[in-house]
Amino acid sequence: HAKELGKGQFQFFTGELNSAAHQRLALESALRGALDASELSVVYQPKVDPFGNCCGFEALLRWHNEQLGDISPERFIPLAEEIGLIEPMTDFVLRAACCEALGWRSAQPGAAPLSVAVNLSARLFSDDSLAARVAAILAETGLPATRLEVEITESALLGDFTRTAASIESLRVLGVRIALDDFGTGYSSLSYLQKLPLDIVKIDRSFVSRCEHGGEAMAIPRAIISLGRSLHLRIVAEGVENARQLAMLAAYGCEEFQGYLIAPPLAPADALAFLAGDLASQIR
Ligand code: C2E
Ligand code: MG
Ligand code: MG
Ligand code: MG
Repeated sequence: HAKELGKGQFQFFTGELNSAAHQRLALESALRGALDASELSVVYQPKVDPFGNCCGFEALLRWHNEQLGDISPERFIPLAEEIGLIEPMTDFVLRAACCEALGWRSAQPGAAPLSVAVNLSARLFSDDSLAARVAAILAETGLPATRLEVEITESALLGDFTRTAASIESLRVLGVRIALDDFGTGYSSLSYLQKLPLDIVKIDRSFVSRCEHGGEAMAIPRAIISLGRSLHLRIVAEGVENARQLAMLAAYGCEEFQGYLIAPPLAPADALAFLAGDLASQIR
């Protein structure tokens, strides 16, 4: 029978592929149990203005499994999308993030209330009920919609653009702000910036890491900042790792910064301590 199966299928029975398939199955079944086993948690990475004042945090999902250890979201999010777990997992992040944000107080008197940003998978935007689900979680937790941001990557715009745009519009009607994440990578079309009701653009880390050299390396970040500003979008630089990068971007008008230079993603208690530190530096 092996002959009839053909080359590709025959390979399935070789040790290497078998173990890859086995690994994937193990990951898949562990992921199915992760929510119920309380293996998921959420960490929060701050965003600051050019003066170092905290503007809000981005919620990032973490998964720790006893057998498998820490698994990166870059690995388990695509799998969760594939096996139909992305909805419950996103609800988990939204609920945790909204609850956590209720406890944040800005160190600056009179400052805008701190926001929390949640990453939403591209495929969620093709679901008509997305805005209703978000609205339900906002109502349940009591977080005002104006304090929630959702981050969407450009790949979401590759699918059914009309449906995605409708979902974005419905979220915006609630008062939720929309950020375009990892901007400038992959499939970006500049026209999206004008066609969609966006509030925030996040310059991808790949541009940020190069821009400390100045000169030509600044060409793309400068163009994104200037285009964004003329479209009244707030510009955030992600993956800021050193002071030179921050200074270069700030000089050209970037308004918010996020990255290891400021802080890594923090456990909830550490996020509170970060805000308290912010307060201490104000009093000093
Ligand atoms: P992202 O939304 O672009 O998040 C930024 C990633 O860069 C995070 O990785 C963060 O830890 C990392 N990072 C932050 N500052 C720095 C820096 O200065 N240098 C470097 N080298 N990296 C930095 P993380 O947490 O592993 O998440 C990776 C991606 O997984 C995220 O990219 C996001 O697309 C996705 N993701 C994370 N949580 C969720 C979630 O709850 N739902 C969905 N759909 N996707 C999520
Ligand atoms: Mg993000
Ligand atoms: Mg990003
Ligand atoms: Mg990124």
